[in-house]
Amino acid sequence: MKLFIPGPTNVRQEVLQAMTKSLIGHRTKSASELQKNISMNMQDVFGSKEMVLCSTSSGTGLMEGSIRSCTSSKAAVFSMGSFGNKWHKIGISNGLHVDLYKVKEGKHIDANFVEDALKKDHYDFVAITHNETSTGVCNDLTEISELLRGKDIVWAVDGVSSVGGVKIDTDELGIDILLTSTQKCLGLPPGMAFCTFSEKAIEKAKNVKLRGMYFDLLSLYKKILEKDYQYPNTPNISLMYAAEVQTNYMVHEEGLATRYQRHKDLANIVRNWAKENFALFVEEEAFASDTVTCVKNTRNIDIGALNKFLGKKDMMISNGYGDLKNETFRIAHMADMTKEDIEELLYEIDQFIK
Ligand SMILES: *Cc1c(COP(=O)(O)O)cnc(C)c1O
Repeated sequence: MKLFIPGPTNVRQEVLQAMTKSLIGHRTKSASELQKNISMNMQDVFGSKEMVLCSTSSGTGLMEGSIRSCTSSKAAVFSMGSFGNKWHKIGISNGLHVDLYKVKEGKHIDANFVEDALKKDHYDFVAITHNETSTGVCNDLTEISELLRGKDIVWAVDGVSSVGGVKIDTDELGIDILLTSTQKCLGLPPGMAFCTFSEKAIEKAKNVKLRGMYFDLLSLYKKILEKDYQYPNTPNISLMYAAEVQTNYMVHEEGLATRYQRHKDLANIVRNWAKENFALFVEEEAFASDTVTCVKNTRNIDIGALNKFLGKKDMMISNGYGDLKNETFRIAHMADMTKEDIEELLYEIDQFIK
């Protein structure tokens, strides 16, 4: 089955094979080396010299970990759709003081919006989705970065559906925590998540009393220092084998610049097709995502029937997310997908429409 859904994505055979290797103890030198190799590669992917934390959880775990570990007064969550709203809900569920600032679905979050919000209260934590998977909108982090620079605020960014497909210079932008999951642009099976953790975030976390346990980012960080790249609990070792192979491939074989350009090229093909046949959901095309396209279902086609049709060809796309179901559908062009894959999919959708 070829998956054109925004996670899980297809995983290369070589990577799947790596998961069949015999297990090792998680307190061995080999386990330290394994995690260190993954972390080093992920530093390149994140564009960061900061320590990379590995979590045996999906990305949501690190969304929880970041907000819980790094706010002691009040957090501001900026949302442009479902995943931003989720971050707010996570904060509230942890008993934290969190304000939600929302833009209409299809819009991006601009720096003025953030600036106005930050005047309303004293926030010590700001959470922003980079690429909103439900709407296909990708924020420009540069302007927001200028605004937050030098402020006493820990800045966390959800890059779950962009890291590995879109270049993000974490350190240059001054992002304190950039988090992602394995099953989207990284092209790995689901089950692990990674994030950066800046000096500022570390200092902040030291002053937060109740950071929880499993997703306490400071304890993840300390274990890495004390035990030379080991994990506090038993990590998903099999998936780490896969992550080592895949991140080596991304950084040293395909090369990150080539990888990012491939995502851009695929996005252009899908966007042009969508504009010809339907319309883009994103309001301003400059903010259209390079990893997933949300298509406005202007022809009112039956998305369920389309997916059934595609299923016979071993392909699958995504219906709209939440309220956007049937009103939109989504085509992911992330991870290790090729131009041929995308062209084959669009050809089949064309056949369905005819
Ligand atoms: C998929 C997704 C998540 C949730 O990640 P999980 O790994 O499923 O927990 C969060 N944010 C965005 C933008 C996503 O696309």
